[in-house]
Amino acid sequence: MSDTDGKKPLGLGGAPRPGSVKQSFSHGRTKSVLVETKRKRVVVPKQGAPGAASGSGQTRLGDPSKRPAGITDAEMERRLTALRAAKAREADDAIRRAEEERQREEERQRRRDEIEAREREEREREAALKAKAEEAERMKALAEADARRAEAAKSAEAEAPAPRQANNAGPGPSRPSSPGPRKAEREREDRDRVGKGREDSRRTGKLTLNDALQGEGGRTRSLAAMKRKQEKARQKAMGTGQRSEKQFYDVRIPETIVVSELANRMKERAADVVKSLMKMGMMVTMNQAIDADTAQLVIEEFGHRAVRVSDSDVEQVIQQTTDDAGNLKTRAPVITIMGHVDHGKTSLLDAIRKANVVSGEAGGITQHIGAYQVKTENGSLLTFLDTPGHAAFTSMRARGTQVTDIVVLVVAADDAVMPQTIEAIHHAKAANVPMIVAINKIDKPGANPTKVRTDLLQHEIVVEAMSGDVQDVEVSAKTGLGLDSLLEAIALQAEILELKANPDRAASGAVIEAQLDVGRGPVATVLVQNGTLKRGDIFVVGQQWGKVRALINDQGERVNEAGPSVPVEVLGLNGTPHAGDVLNVVETEAQAREIASYRENAAKDKRAAAGAATTLEQLMAKAKADASVAELPVLVKADVQGSAEAIVQALEKIGNDEVRVRILHYGVGAITDSDVGLAEASNAPIIGFNVRANASARQSANQKSVEIRYYSIIYDLVDDIKAAASGLLKNEIREHFIGYATIKETFKITGAGMIAGCLVTEGIARRSAGVRLLRDNVVIHEGTLKTLKRFKDEVKEVQSGQECGMAFERYEDLRVGDVIEIFEREEVKRTLQ
Ligand code: GDP
Repeated sequence: MSDTDGKKPLGLGGAPRPGSVKQSFSHGRTKSVLVETKRKRVVVPKQGAPGAASGSGQTRLGDPSKRPAGITDAEMERRLTALRAAKAREADDAIRRAEEERQREEERQRRRDEIEAREREEREREAALKAKAEEAERMKALAEADARRAEAAKSAEAEAPAPRQANNAGPGPSRPSSPGPRKAEREREDRDRVGKGREDSRRTGKLTLNDALQGEGGRTRSLAAMKRKQEKARQKAMGTGQRSEKQFYDVRIPETIVVSELANRMKERAADVVKSLMKMGMMVTMNQAIDADTAQLVIEEFGHRAVRVSDSDVEQVIQQTTDDAGNLKTRAPVITIMGHVDHGKTSLLDAIRKANVVSGEAGGITQHIGAYQVKTENGSLLTFLDTPGHAAFTSMRARGTQVTDIVVLVVAADDAVMPQTIEAIHHAKAANVPMIVAINKIDKPGANPTKVRTDLLQHEIVVEAMSGDVQDVEVSAKTGLGLDSLLEAIALQAEILELKANPDRAASGAVIEAQLDVGRGPVATVLVQNGTLKRGDIFVVGQQWGKVRALINDQGERVNEAGPSVPVEVLGLNGTPHAGDVLNVVETEAQAREIASYRENAAKDKRAAAGAATTLEQLMAKAKADASVAELPVLVKADVQGSAEAIVQALEKIGNDEVRVRILHYGVGAITDSDVGLAEASNAPIIGFNVRANASARQSANQKSVEIRYYSIIYDLVDDIKAAASGLLKNEIREHFIGYATIKETFKITGAGMIAGCLVTEGIARRSAGVRLLRDNVVIHEGTLKTLKRFKDEVKEVQSGQECGMAFERYEDLRVGDVIEIFEREEVKRTLQ
């Protein structure tokens, strides 16, 4: 305390001067007084200093004898008073000083506290900053480590990767030098200790640094490693884990999305997404689909950005890449056999198959899967579509799938070019597919191939034998004659076409046949067109999707994959696709499901839109027609085109202004699943003329309650349809007048209303009948009777000539002289002429 005032020594320094005391008195300066007090203490025990007049004066105040000479009493008194005043001031000053000292001490304490608090704050801030800096440092160190590693790679000094690996890969020692493993070990220990507490971990971090410094070099590495470790420990202690590194994505959402796929796209856990949906009150599983609005909410909740995409965008996942010429490999041609009925298409296909099936033993069990492959003598592979006729060809084309590379037009040599031959020519030309003419039944005695050739000329088919460019081969499906030549001709044509595909990509193909097999579920024969279809592939096919469970080739053998132009039966579909549907392999099940459901909805919309007219006139005409005209939709399948057309014409004639037959679809060939599907969609019966439904169509028709009717006489068919259409005619309502009555009197009866006293003039009055009120032969009301009374009794009938009381239901305006007409209605069934 005594040394607290730094001013004191200064005061003392000035004190010994004798003048200073006086001066100080006169001015009343506290400092001077202090000085004097000290001096007094020092001076008094000795004696007044020779030069200090005032000091000696004070000492002698109480003793006049010791008073210096020349000092009067008054002077002495004055001095004494001054001395007392000085003493009092001194005491005051001492108190004040003590007080000041106390205040100062308080102030100091306060400042100390302040500083301490500030320091504490500073420390904390520093700690936070340090944490940040450490993070930055860590990143920098990582980058440096990378850079060093790159350098190290160059200079063959493999030191740089060590810290990074030590951190990432954990215990694995990554430095070849000896301290490496030791350090890694130490770090491992440190890591263990980190779990015990944060403080601890810091210390261990420092230790690691020291240790590292003691080791040979590697200062930077150790520092970086330590910082990473500290960062890791910090994250661990804070329990934030990877949070700081969370990334946010643009998440594409279609109209609907399956929860698991949504989670996938956000890179979140599906369970978390389900949880978040539950919080919103939506109880869904991860396999259920949610709409885009909900999906958007979820995405935003997770902090990502939602990108709405239009429905059709889901199809974009299907690879549309074009292949480099270098990746393309020659593939087998795909051949369709067409021709008029009975010209030998089936026989030819069978003959080719029996003689040349690939790898098949002669007489071995062959499987009809809709297509098969044969090998020519020269070793070329050919793929034949096993569904002869135009139906398959056209239905595929209608779906935009061109499978066929070459058409073999079969014309019987004993016959001529027939309607279906011409049709086949048109189809092939329309599809721009090259043709080879097979003149069949050459073994027959009446065979006249030249006639066939000349006939074809009329249809602009100039065969090679006639110096044209269309190959023609004389064959006999029965004897096998010329079959090899036909195959060679096909192989040659294929060579000209230079058919190529890339087998090393995700497969795409076309469905040739599909059915619902009782044991195996939906089965589709797919002709792979590009890429290689493998077991386990996830695909979408038309409106269906699936995962390849098994692939079965045309020999009935299970195979693991099928390349371009190879037909295979595919198992593992979730539904039966249609012939002509395109199969595409996609990456994920969710994508497949999404595309399939999009297509299904689109098809539904299309069906709904198909009925919608476009122009206003059409719209009005349709509205009018819809309001008054009943339609009987039918689907016609016939054995030949000619009969199909005849049936369609006959059916279109049926009907009048009120009812008509609408042909949904007509075609040639067996009734298939797709026919049943179409019939079901329109609630139509299927008419089979000389054709039958295949097994799967029969089955699905049963399931879907689609009526299939078979006919072999057009007349019967038309009659039946006429009867069915008649059933749609509205019944005719005929009225019979059963009586008339005249009102003679009217009464108003409370509770019963207006009652008319009438006389039945004609026929009969019946209570249940309809009544009209005629006034001057004008109908003024039509309704029913409320009461029919005869002498107060309610009766059912009143005969002519009798009087009765009548009241109308909800009608009061009855007057004397009005005539009541009584009639009955009858519904009459009508028929079409
Ligand atoms: P598709 O209706 O065009 O499939 O004709 P098919 O293959 O069913 O044959 C019709 C008929 O012609 C059958 O009775 C066959 O036996 C017969 N046929 C087919 N090809 C030949 C042939 O090359 N020679 C003879 N003689 N008859 C044949």
